[in-house]
Amino acid sequence: MKSPEFESPVHDVLVIGAGMAGASVAAHLAEKCPENFSVHLIEREDQPGYHSTGRSAALFSEIYGSAPVRALTRASRAFLEHPPESFAAHTLLEPRPTVFVATAAQAEAFDVMQQQEDIKAGTRWISPAEAAALCPILRADELIGALIEDASADIDVHGLHQGYLKRFRALGGALTLGADVEAITREGELWQVKTRVGTFVAKTVVNAAGAWAGQIGALAGAQDIGLMPKRRTAILVEPPAGMNPARWPMIMDVGEEFYFKPDAGMLLVSPCDETESPACDAQPEELDVAIAADRVMTATTLQIRRVSHSWAGLRSFVADRTPVSGYDPKLKGFFWLAGQGGYGIQTAPAMAELAASLILDGTVPARLADFGVDASALAPDRLLASG
Ligand SMILES: Cc1cc2nc3c(=O)[nH]c(=O)nc-3n(C[C@H](O)[C@H](O)[C@H](O)COP(=O)(O)OP(=O)(O)OC[C@H]3O[C@@H](n4cnc5c(N)ncnc54)[C@H](O)[C@@H]3O)c2cc1C
Repeated sequence: MKSPEFESPVHDVLVIGAGMAGASVAAHLAEKCPENFSVHLIEREDQPGYHSTGRSAALFSEIYGSAPVRALTRASRAFLEHPPESFAAHTLLEPRPTVFVATAAQAEAFDVMQQQEDIKAGTRWISPAEAAALCPILRADELIGALIEDASADIDVHGLHQGYLKRFRALGGALTLGADVEAITREGELWQVKTRVGTFVAKTVVNAAGAWAGQIGALAGAQDIGLMPKRRTAILVEPPAGMNPARWPMIMDVGEEFYFKPDAGMLLVSPCDETESPACDAQPEELDVAIAADRVMTATTLQIRRVSHSWAGLRSFVADRTPVSGYDPKLKGFFWLAGQGGYGIQTAPAMAELAASLILDGTVPARLADFGVDASALAPDRLLASG
């Protein structure tokens, strides 16, 4: 079908942003949609995954984040462990336990953490000495205890993202790169999305623009959902001479002031910074790099003499730090898929399955509900001023 005014094909769904959120929902939509249903994915950059998706720490943890995030993560495990045939060349999840360490100053946060039923079920308490046996650079005498999550894992982020894009294309979907959205207007029942490379016309628009989702919402005339991008820094450093960290767990402190994990023979370290930022191509600040090195040297015996590589990316949150998935209550055909914060990789399969189902028929798949996924906890109307 062609739009008479614009001579452009009318897509049933136009997804804006081809990071993990946009690529995954496009693939799920293409799979679930009826015949002759058209899904188009547009991306501003020449390379999808250039922003937050390409900068993550690749952690899969079922006890990390708010309760709705944890439910989405649990519901994502099956897809990551058993993706569709030929989805990815390698396994997407490589087991790596995570050890959440606590100092005396963090005793209260440690207690609160241990009171959550699902966290209790997904972890076991270990002594400082046991934690140090798993990661010999930890200063055990600084710790009061630790929780180990045996079932956490490293995610092959590139494999997952490329798998979604490949699947989307194989199911007949199309991706346009270099399509920077400049204006969004509504004419009758259709959205017109003007980009540098042409105007796209669609019945439904999915806003999966990551840190720019607030701006895309504003272009469409939506109310502000209070999305705030926050910069997070990561550095790569050499492990101590003569030590092979490949089998060390990921180490994170319960106050989320630092984490480190093995990464291809190096150690990936983050100071867990959350500096408010405009949506942009985030770059690491020298101070945050120094804080990362300092915090990990305080918690361990590691001596950092050189930072091999550093980068930063944006983790975008709304006020309750829970992602947003649902139709805008005031703008017909405008769907939010945003605010994934620091969990947008590990929750992607369940978020995409849910979003595709909400877009197509407004239902929550029973499989997701069984994991405790509740659409109302994710709906954008929880964030909008009433009236
Ligand atoms: C340092 C760091 C560590 C992290 N670690 C983890 C982790 O261990 N586990 C985890 O699950 N998550 C982690 N995350 C979070 C995760 O990376 C994000 O939640 C996820 O990548 C968000 O995906 P997205 O598709 O929403 O955003 P993005 O990947 O940023 O994609 C949004 C896309 O929209 C496009 N776009 C924006 N505006 C426009 C426009 N006007 N027109 C067209 N296209 C547009 C952008 O170019 C971009 O490609 C981490 C993030 C950072 C920064």
